[in-house]
Amino acid sequence: MNHIWTAAGAAAWGAAELGGLQSFLDDGAREKIETLCPGAATVLVAAFPYYAGDTPGNLSLYCRGEDYHQVLTRRLEGVCQALRDLHPGHTFLPGADNSPIPELAAAELAGVGHKGGHGLRMVPPYGSYVFLGTILTDLALPSTGPSQGTICPDNCKACQKACPTGALTDQGCDVSKCLSDWTQQKGELPPDVEKKVQESPTVWGCDLCQKACPHNKTAELSTLPEFRENLTTSLTMEDLEGLSNKAFRKEFAHKAFAWRGIAPLKRNLDLKQK
Ligand code: SF4
Ligand code: SF4
Repeated sequence: MNHIWTAAGAAAWGAAELGGLQSFLDDGAREKIETLCPGAATVLVAAFPYYAGDTPGNLSLYCRGEDYHQVLTRRLEGVCQALRDLHPGHTFLPGADNSPIPELAAAELAGVGHKGGHGLRMVPPYGSYVFLGTILTDLALPSTGPSQGTICPDNCKACQKACPTGALTDQGCDVSKCLSDWTQQKGELPPDVEKKVQESPTVWGCDLCQKACPHNKTAELSTLPEFRENLTTSLTMEDLEGLSNKAFRKEFAHKAFAWRGIAPLKRNLDLKQK
């Protein structure tokens, strides 16, 4: 199967038995999985690198190229088609941040990269600048993992120290405190979060923990043209001025920062001007 994943541009891949993920699934997720893929037995997991260099800009590094949902779905569908040809009669379903599969847990079980102190997967030589994609299948395959050992040097904690909100602790990432999540929320933000957005170098997402990580300082550039070309590194209020929500979505239809519409970005940019 290696050549199929390599051809699809994956930096690493593996397989996890669905049974090993049961404790991460609630009833709704189990039902959804059974509906999507009756008799589902295995989750294939792959990591796709996206780093395009640390060019200055106010958009997080992950959303500058083509929307990763679109890129991964397209590339995973190619893998699915190759696997359907190899295993006729079996179901193969791609997923990219939009499936009931707990991707991080599946990557751990499949041995795809290592869990970093910031909670993200680290896949050398690309650091944590990778997107995870999954394929759900009723083909039974043995697990290729789990991941062994840690990739974090003793007492590093550079990611924790760099986090401006205290979201990172030894217990992991508290998403309710994560600025990346907050910048993507709709509506008014609490005053303390507004202040953090004002101070942040980004108006969408937050890269501070990843940029502080020694593994990411030497991360190799992505091999995938979708994440290296036609980059949007920054947005200004002028870029959005006069655009309706519909026009914004059309203009940035292939960008991951557009999924919440124009309002959160306008709010965040507005906060910077205060
Ligand atoms: S993305 Fe930003 S706010 Fe979230 S954990 Fe990392 S440094 Fe903290
Ligand atoms: S900054 Fe240090 S502790 Fe955090 S993920 Fe990177 S190596 Fe691990």
